[in-house]
Amino acid sequence: MQEIHEDTIAMKQFSKILFSVGIGISSLSYYSVTALQEQLQQQESSYQIQNYVNTNLDKIIQDQEKKLNIVYQGRPIVEVGISEETKNAFPSLSICGYYDSEENSIYFKKDITINPLPDKDGLEISPENSCTIKEVLDHELGHFYVDMLSEQLKHGSWPQTLRENGKVDENAIHIIGEGIAEYFGRTMNGHYDNFKDEEWPTKLEDFYMLYDQNGKKIDLEDPPIPNYRLWYQGGYHLVKPIIDEFSVNGIHYLMFHPPTEEELINLKEYQQKVIRQLRKK
Ligand SMILES: [Zn+2]
Repeated sequence: MQEIHEDTIAMKQFSKILFSVGIGISSLSYYSVTALQEQLQQQESSYQIQNYVNTNLDKIIQDQEKKLNIVYQGRPIVEVGISEETKNAFPSLSICGYYDSEENSIYFKKDITINPLPDKDGLEISPENSCTIKEVLDHELGHFYVDMLSEQLKHGSWPQTLRENGKVDENAIHIIGEGIAEYFGRTMNGHYDNFKDEEWPTKLEDFYMLYDQNGKKIDLEDPPIPNYRLWYQGGYHLVKPIIDEFSVNGIHYLMFHPPTEEELINLKEYQQKVIRQLRKK
């Protein structure tokens, strides 16, 4: 299966903004979000996106190497455009970009913002709700870095290697993968941790949504919708103290020791265990 790391704006967050500008919640969809973004953000062509990447990629990578104390192997391929197949796979999300670890390619959505407009009074567009190329690129580079590290260690693409070598819960793979990528994105763009330990799941069902973005209870017969906040904000909260203290050794340990099913419902304990293990080394 093709590996995709979607990077997202949770519809829930957008619903607050839509409400504040008087757009009916019932019209909420990927397209209404895009229409709103068109009003708020400058549109860029594919050429401008490629041009931005050609001009800035090396500098962005060098800045990460310095700040995160890591070394990159090679450079990713960067493409513009998200396939319909990918959009359809995540119907409740607006996808800003993703990384394909089989192709070593980063994909951006066609109308991603290069130069964000200043926030407008009353709209409260927080950095988390915007979809700007610099931050998405910093995040996707985190996926690329992990994948290259795995390949360099002769473990093949990551996270495919985890899926092939053992029974690892998908939520564990995403929490670690998105957590590390968020660490790259947030550290490089000065965003903080807004997740609390009390939000951690205490049972495996907590990893899935019970209500859709319109507040309607989700039919249990439908394919479950992951609680993306746990993967992204939760993942970052989980890995932050570990990567802060152990840098690349922390990243490496997390990649190959993701939480077990039992640890997924005791993530604070898992985090403390990882820290103890790494301090012993
Ligand atoms: Zn991601």
